[in-house]
Amino acid sequence: MRITVFHNSNAKSVHVAANLAAKLRQQGFSVVKDNPDIVITVGGDGTLLSAFHEYAHMLDKVRFVGVHTGHLGFYTDWRDYELDELVESLRHDDNQKISYPLLDVGVRYADDNSTVHYLALNEATLKRFPATMVTDVYISDELFESFRGDGLCVSTPTGSTAYNKSVGGAVLNPQLEAIQLAEIASINNRVFRTLGSAIVISKDEWIDVYPEPRAMDYEMTVDRFAPKQRPIKAIRYRIAKERISFARYRHMHFWNRVEDAFIGEKQH
Ligand code: NAP
Repeated sequence: MRITVFHNSNAKSVHVAANLAAKLRQQGFSVVKDNPDIVITVGGDGTLLSAFHEYAHMLDKVRFVGVHTGHLGFYTDWRDYELDELVESLRHDDNQKISYPLLDVGVRYADDNSTVHYLALNEATLKRFPATMVTDVYISDELFESFRGDGLCVSTPTGSTAYNKSVGGAVLNPQLEAIQLAEIASINNRVFRTLGSAIVISKDEWIDVYPEPRAMDYEMTVDRFAPKQRPIKAIRYRIAKERISFARYRHMHFWNRVEDAFIGEKQH
């Protein structure tokens, strides 16, 4: 089995990654950079986001495993003191995996009418600053609302605990095949009106937005990246054909993870 160990630049992650690579080689695994069967990330959820984009061209082949060097994350099932257990699980690997939906963002640019597709693991946002963002929002070709405000955030189920949650979106069980649209500071008064809450659409639906085509001051983000700013004619958001797969050696209850990350100790 070919394994990549992908880490962030934090000193602890560098140390843990070197230790893990040595343990893997000892057990006869090939530790490689190209064409891996498994990518093990060492760092945080952000590190897994980077690894996802690095290996996004081979999602049908690769499975991910996340080792966390800080607190337990949403994409990271293993702690840095569990390396022996992880290596043992890899030795007994029989291709077990769990996969989750991704977001396809099709951007039609106004300058040359080309369409570029971006793939997001967490979310894509569209924001405008300092001017107010004005855009019609269509769901499956039907006009839904005219949005005015700071921006919009469209997220995957696994991304629902990230930016989406900060802007009032719901936390979704990642097994659901859906995407969510959440508003970022919408203007709601007697003149302008949006739904004012996040919506979740199903796998057969899509969302189109039409920002002002000549404006250059829209900023788009895809996970932790920002594509170069260009005038945008339209963006279509839908569930991607591709999915991300994780090598799943043990089960972690999703709602326990949510509780642990956001609620913590409670008095009974
Ligand atoms: P960052 O600003 O350094 O970290 C963002 C935080 O979000 C980190 O604590 C990260 O966890 C956590 N995170 C990432 N994915 C998550 C998920 N699916 N569920 C719950 N928490 C998650 O940025 P970054 O590390 O480059 O990560 C990029 C992500 O940050 C974006 O995709 C976006 O979701 C999020 N973000 C959020 C806001 C906001 O809430 N206002 C603003 C900008 C970006 P780790 O510490 O484990 O890495």
